[in-house]
Amino acid sequence: MKKLLMANWKMNPKTEKEAIRLAKASDAANVVVYPPFPFLPAVAKALKKATLGAQDLFWEAETGPYTGEVSARELKSVGVEYVIIGHSSRRALGEKDEVIAKKVQAALSVGLVPILCVGEVLEEREAGRAQEVVDKQLRTVLSQLPLVAHGQLFVAYEPVWAISTTPHSSGLQSLSAEEAPAKSVELIRYMQHMVSTIQMETKFLYGGSVNLKNVQEVFGYDEIDGALVGGASLKAAEFGKMIKEVST
Ligand code: PEP
Repeated sequence: MKKLLMANWKMNPKTEKEAIRLAKASDAANVVVYPPFPFLPAVAKALKKATLGAQDLFWEAETGPYTGEVSARELKSVGVEYVIIGHSSRRALGEKDEVIAKKVQAALSVGLVPILCVGEVLEEREAGRAQEVVDKQLRTVLSQLPLVAHGQLFVAYEPVWAISTTPHSSGLQSLSAEEAPAKSVELIRYMQHMVSTIQMETKFLYGGSVNLKNVQEVFGYDEIDGALVGGASLKAAEFGKMIKEVST
């Protein structure tokens, strides 16, 4: 399978018109675009080669009295194929592993491919707890999945300290985002082993300040099946160059 560039637009851009422009500039076969909910139909229409994703969902797969929530089936009905779950910005708002596990199950139940985000914050990394943190995040979700789901799941390892737009809780940054991809490979290998010991198969993405400068490095690791890109995916020219870089 070709390695994928996943464009997480977060709460951007401001208008549908801008979303359509950005979608057209990001439209390549190895790209998955994750716009905010209101722009999903327009972006779906604008994309000819790229695949559509959503940034979150609610765990109840059917319609119901859940004000403000969006179901897996509703997302599917507008052409969504992938869904990000447990992103660090949702975890920062209080989302817990148990809820994340329910969301992953809801996605799989209707045939959406979940991108399960895991990753430690700076203090956990500095305390030598990165592996323990990520192990728990992953194990809680995987232990609740039916065997048939294996292979249809992406795990995005995103060390929170390497995500460019996340305010760091400690002012002094002893680790830089440049070091993150190389450091991540060790942890991804650990997760691959962990997953294989419970007879599972998943694909792994790296996320955290991936841009034009480091995308080749990230795609060069055999352990990594693609990248989840935030900030750089909003810059049409840079993202267009990144697509070219990884396609040649
Ligand atoms: C993200 O939020 O998933 C992300 C990786 O963001 P950025 O590329 O801006 O670090």
